[in-house]
Amino acid sequence: MSFTVAIDGPAASGKGTIARAVAAHFGFAHLDTGLLYRAVGKKVMIRGDSPEIAVQMARELTPDDLMADDLRTAEVAQAASKVASIPQVRSTLVDFQKTFAKQPNGAVLDGRDIGTVICPDADVKLFVVASAEVRAERRFKELSANDTNITLEYVLEDIKTRDARDAGRDVAPMTAADDAVVLNTSKLTIRQAIAAAVAVITDKRVVD
Ligand code: C5P
Repeated sequence: MSFTVAIDGPAASGKGTIARAVAAHFGFAHLDTGLLYRAVGKKVMIRGDSPEIAVQMARELTPDDLMADDLRTAEVAQAASKVASIPQVRSTLVDFQKTFAKQPNGAVLDGRDIGTVICPDADVKLFVVASAEVRAERRFKELSANDTNITLEYVLEDIKTRDARDAGRDVAPMTAADDAVVLNTSKLTIRQAIAAAVAVITDKRVVD
């Protein structure tokens, strides 16, 4: 029987880590939907920055494009956030995500609009938050492992710019669904955050 978990939240809130752990715990398939926008953003950086090119890149996207190992940079994140505000880019990527969500053995998708647009009927919805400063520290630790020139200030600015763009766009803005459980990870360890998410999902599965 299909069971869908929607996990949304801003950059570096912990939603990706939680989504991966939840998928492993329950044996669900996992889709990091940010990778779709990052892959399109990356192609636009190479092929040209115009809405038409972005839509074409979204149409031509293949699962292999999501495997590229250079999608995690701050520059690609900014490009992703820009293409993500183009309505036709979003609509092009909807079907793939909706189909993924219906996997027979359960699925967890993380992103910005999963609980509101992609899976409004998800069995469990989580909206993961943390302060911008805590999120910047986390992302800085990740990014500085590969990029010794990056600074904490740059990462904080990147996060704030993306938050504003993602929450302020007209189509599918980042927002908690009315029926989402809000999980603030600012003061939680990774282990505690995962345990909290697993508890919410376990409750829901037992009740149903
Ligand atoms: O989650 P991640 O930081 O990898 O996402 C990169 C960008 O992709 C976000 O800043 C956001 O603009 C966009 N995104 C989106 N909707 C999603 C997932 C990601 O708009 N479901």
